[in-house]
Parts: sequence; C-alpha cells; structure tokens
Amino acid sequence: MICVPITARTKKEALHSIERSCQFADFIELRMDLINGGRLEEFISAARSDSDSIKIIVTCRKKEEAAPAGRTVLAKSTARNSEEKIALLKEAIGLGADFVDIELAEGQAAIKELQAFCAKHGGKTKIIISYHNLKETPVLTELKKIFHQCAKFKPAIVKMVTTARTIEDNLITLSLISYAKERSQKIISLCMGDKGDISRIAAPLMGSYLSFAAVEKGGHSAPGQFTVGEMKRINELLKSSRTVPEAPVLSMQRPQPQNYILLGNPVGQSLSPIMHNAALKQMNVEGTYSAFCVHDLRGAIQGMRAMNICGASITIPFKVAVMEYLDDVDDDALKIGAVNTIINHHGRLTGYNTDWLGLVVTIREALPIKNKTFVIIGAGGTARAAAYGIIKEGGFPMIVNRTLKKGEILSRKLNCPFYSLAEIGKIKADCLINTTPVGMYPKDKSPVKAAIPGNYKYVVDVIYNPIKTKLLKDAQKQGCGIISGLDMFVNQGAGQLRLWTGKEPPRALMKKIISERLNQIEE
Ligand code: NAP
Repeated sequence: MICVPITARTKKEALHSIERSCQFADFIELRMDLINGGRLEEFISAARSDSDSIKIIVTCRKKEEAAPAGRTVLAKSTARNSEEKIALLKEAIGLGADFVDIELAEGQAAIKELQAFCAKHGGKTKIIISYHNLKETPVLTELKKIFHQCAKFKPAIVKMVTTARTIEDNLITLSLISYAKERSQKIISLCMGDKGDISRIAAPLMGSYLSFAAVEKGGHSAPGQFTVGEMKRINELLKSSRTVPEAPVLSMQRPQPQNYILLGNPVGQSLSPIMHNAALKQMNVEGTYSAFCVHDLRGAIQGMRAMNICGASITIPFKVAVMEYLDDVDDDALKIGAVNTIINHHGRLTGYNTDWLGLVVTIREALPIKNKTFVIIGAGGTARAAAYGIIKEGGFPMIVNRTLKKGEILSRKLNCPFYSLAEIGKIKADCLINTTPVGMYPKDKSPVKAAIPGNYKYVVDVIYNPIKTKLLKDAQKQGCGIISGLDMFVNQGAGQLRLWTGKEPPRALMKKIISERLNQIEE
C-alpha cells in the first residue's frame, strides 16, 4: 500500500495535494510539522470528501527525527513541545484519523497517555510508534532492541526508518520485517537516502505495511522517496516478472518466495541476475535473485541470515573471505579453499563451490578428462577450482603463472608441475585452460603469444565476455577445439540452482539468455 506524505507549505497547497493524493494513494500522512496554516479538521474533512477509502495518518514529527529532504524550516504552527504535540494527536483522534504516529523518543508517559485517550474514544484510531535515525543505520542488535522498545506498547504498527550509508544497511533494516512478522507485529521498515532506494522497493514485497511515495517530483518528505507513478511502475514490472504456478499448489499454505542474492564488489556488470531470474521463472520457483555490491561482508552475511535469504552466489573478491562467516563448508569447497555458493538451511549457512563442477562438466562435453594433461594459466581461485576438478576426474594438471611464488605454492599443494609464464612455449598438453582475466571485454588481449595454442588439441577460456576471446580466436586459427567460458558460467550457475532448489535448471534457456545479452554488449 502506498502512502503519500502531505508536506505542502501552505493550506492551499496542502488541500490541492490532498485532492491529488486521494486519487492515487491508499494512505495520506498529514505532516503537521511541515504544513503552515490551515486546521487539522479542514484537512481531514477534505480528504474524507475526496475519497471514501483513503486512510489518514496524522504525524507531528520532532525536529530531531524529521527528514524534510532539503527543507529546514518547520511550520510555524508546529507544536513547540511534547504537550502541544500530544494535544494535536489527541485532536486527530477526536477527528477520527485512522492512525496517529508518535515517536518512541516521546517517552513512555506520552505514549501511554495517547493510548488511553484512543481507548476512551472507541479505539478507532490506531497508533504507530516510530523511530527515525537521520544519520545512520545502527547494528542489527541495536535495531532489534529499539524494535522491542516500540513493540512492548503493542502498537498497531512499529515504524523503523534509518539512513543507509552503505548498501548493506538495507539488508539490516529490511531484516526487521521478517523479525517483526515472526512476532506478529506489523511493521514499516526502510532506509532513507540515495543508498536506501533498494529498501523502498524491497520492503513492500517483503511485507512492510506501507511504502511512502511523493505524489510528484519534489514533494517528497524524506530523501530517496520515489513518486507514486515510479512506485506503481516498479511494482507492475516486478509483478509481471514473477511466476504464477501453472499447477495448483498441493499444500494449503502458499509457499514462501525463494529469494536469492549475489554478493560481490563490483556486481554492476554481472549477468547472473538475468540468468538466474529467467531460470527460476522457467522452473516455476516463485522468487527473485538480486545483486548486492558489498563493502562489509560480515554485515551482508548477517543480513542474509536475518532476512532468511534462501541462498547466495559469492563472487570476486569474497570467495575465500566468506568462509569464516559460514557454519559449514562442503568438502569440495574446503579442499579448493573457495566458496561461490551458500545455502541457508533453517538459518544454518553452508558453503559450496560449483566453479569446479561447472568447468569439469563443460570440458567433459568436449573431451574425456581421465588420463589427459591440462596446462592451467593462473594460480588464483578459478585455477584452484579447475585443478581440483581435473584431479578429481583422473586428469593431470600443470600450473603456469606470472607470479612465481603463487604458482609454486599452488603446484606444491596439488603435487603437480609448475612453469613460469615465460616458459609456456616449452610445454605441450591435451588442453590449455586460461583462468586469468586477460582478454576480458573490452580488451582484445591474450595471456600467451598467438602461436602457443598450437601446442594443444583443445583450448578453454574461463572468460565469457566476450564469448570468443583473442586466445580462442588464435586457437581456432591453429585448428584447436575451443571451449568458451560461457558454458562454464551456465554450468556453474546451473549447479547453484540445483543446490538451492533440488530441481534441474533449464541450461539451454540460460545459455540463450546470456549469449543474447553478450551479443548486444559486443554490437
Ligand atoms: P584471481 O583469484 O584474482 O586469480 C587471477 C589469476 O590471474 C592470478 O593467478 C593472476 O596472476 C593471473 N593474472 C591476472 N592478471 C594477469 C596478467 N595481466 N597476466 C598474467 N596473469 C594474470 O581471479 P579468479 O577468481 O581466479 O578469476 C579469474 C577469472 O576467471 C576472472 O576473469 C573471472 O571472471 C573468471 N571466472 C569465470 C567463471 C565462469 O563461470 N566462466 C567462473 C569463475 C571465474 P598472479 O598470481 O601473477 O597475480
């Protein structure tokens, strides 16, 4: 449900704004701390005559908790102290407002007085107890404490609004929604500020009671607010991309949406969201997959637990660091020393690695791995996953790396030969695998000279953007079989979906979607 805050400066503007909002919104919030002139009675009766169904919230925000989005001057008529404010809220109750909003900071005595007054007037008006932090998002334990301080008064709604300084702050504040739901407490929870946009979209989907939107640009009551039109367009888009199950659901209970996330930094260019969302839809799994650019990994994992996110993909640079925040790490991931997938099983987070399997499945489709020799360029996370998979399948890896020390350490661990990148011309094998980022879009480069692929029957590049890297073009000219990172990308993603849902993912569709997007990028 959408609530439009009425923040107009004058009585005339406020009445106009009420009239317009009543056409589009479910709720209006009369911000009596911002409107200059006019009486509460006039505004409430104007709203009632404009709409039969509009719900009215009356608020007189404390200066310390008001975020007037650039407006620093509060209305002259604003109640100057708590007594005047409580009197105004009592007037709203007397006038039949649907809700009054009182800040937790007003204190127990004021809240109880207002509750008693409400009860005396038949209890038609409900109470919202609110907390606004204009500076930051406190840590989750602190926010939960504040939530409990609000909830102990048993209000109709608890409102918790913080300021997002980082993207992870959204995860913290949004996690209060499921926390409140588990306690049968209605809640409005979101983040203000530019970095809080995502919470304004996600909160209503997660069950936040209301979202706030301005009736037109510039009419917002807090930084980051969308307009009603923008909110409706976003909601329609999200609804149209969600799956309606074709077969009737057997259980009487509606299944909970299965939400998944990608944690990395950067993630802006990632193609995982379009691939996973299309696959989830095709698999009839109601849920979403969204990317988060993470600055505080610990906070992000905490948020994942609190929001009961079903699973996560982990990408650069967190594949190793994430392991210390998990409850379990599967044997393969532990041996590789990197996690790219997390499953949340009733709050217990387990780490897996599907990169190695993605690569093995991809290579196996072209050549058997057993007893074959493989030269791996690189000694990072993907090289470790590739070597692990090859050994597990009975093949023989050799490591070639730019930094000698890193290459030597890995080859000692794997008990396999090591060569410097300068020596690669001396080696021959069945297959060459590039696991370095050299050749990634937009650079048309190869980690080795153009003639080198001639020493191999097959050449694999783990890079998938572009689909055909310079290394693969050189290899094709030398008559080698070539394998693009696109198949590995699809196969590691399919591995994640299989782990999360237990169902077989639509690999052909996933590959089609990614190829189309990559072709668009290259055009
Ligand atoms: P990483 O841990 O940072 O390792 C990168 C390796 O590449 C290092 O050994 C590094 O050598 C080497 N390297 C980097 N720049 C180089 C250069 N200019 N010349 C020579 N060697 C260079 O990275 P990662 O996680 O393994 O990822 C590597 C690539 O794999 C990325 O492009 C990633 O997108 C891709 N990937 C693809 C898939 C897929 O599904 N297709 C899955 C996972 C990863 P030094 O030791 O000398 O620094």
